[in-house]
Amino acid sequence: MQKTQILVVEDDAPVRNLITTTLKTHEYKYHTAENGESAIMEASSHNPDIVLLDLGLPDIDGVEVIRRIRSWSNMPIIVISARSEDSDKIEALDAGADDYLTKPFSIEELLARLRVTQRRLAVMQADTADSVFTNGSLKVDFAAGCAYLGDKELHLTPIEYKLLCLMAKNVGKVLTHTYITQKIWGSSWDSDVASLRVFMASLRKKLESEPNSPQYIQTHIGIGYRMMKVE
Ligand code: CA
Repeated sequence: MQKTQILVVEDDAPVRNLITTTLKTHEYKYHTAENGESAIMEASSHNPDIVLLDLGLPDIDGVEVIRRIRSWSNMPIIVISARSEDSDKIEALDAGADDYLTKPFSIEELLARLRVTQRRLAVMQADTADSVFTNGSLKVDFAAGCAYLGDKELHLTPIEYKLLCLMAKNVGKVLTHTYITQKIWGSSWDSDVASLRVFMASLRKKLESEPNSPQYIQTHIGIGYRMMKVE
C-alpha cells in the first residue's frame, strides 16, 4: 500500500517538528510549509492526501488558504488552531475544512483525526459511482430514496431523510450548524438551528440504539455534527 502523504502547514517550528516526527514514526510521508503562500504552492505541486493546516500563519490567514485550495481541490483539510474560540473553527469548517484540532493537542488525538480522515478518503474514493451508502448496519439507497438499519427500513420524515443523506454524503466530516441548515432549509436563522436540534434528536431516536451515546452521529457542541464511519 502506498503511504499516505500529508502536507504540514505550521509556522511554529517546535509544533511542526512534533508533527513531522509523529508522522515519520507512523509511516506517513510528508511535506512542510511555513506560511500560507507556500502551503498553496505545495498543495498544488504535491497534491497531498491530507493537509494539516495551522490557522494563524505569518502571511495570509489559514481560512483564506482553505478558500484558495477549495477553489480547485477537495483534498481533506484538518485545521490546527491555537485559538480556542469556536468562531474560528466554524469559519474554517464553513470555508471547507474537514475537521479540527485545538492546540495543545496530544499525539493520540492527531493520529485519531488522521485515521478518521483516511477512512473518509477511502469512502470518497470507493463511493463516487455508488448510489448506495453503507456504514455499519446503516444503508442509504439514494436512488430509491430509502434507508435501512440492518434489514429494517427506517421510517423517516422527508427532513430526517434529507438530514441523513447530507450526513452520509459527508461521512467523517464535521458539518457546521450553518452549513446543514443552509443545505436543508436554504437559510440559517437561529430558529433553523433550533429546528435542526429537534430533527436531529428525532433522527437519532430512529437511527441510534442508544440515542444518549450515539454511534453514528457525533455532536460537536456549539459547532455542528459529524457522521462517524462505523466498522
Ligand atoms: Ca501559527
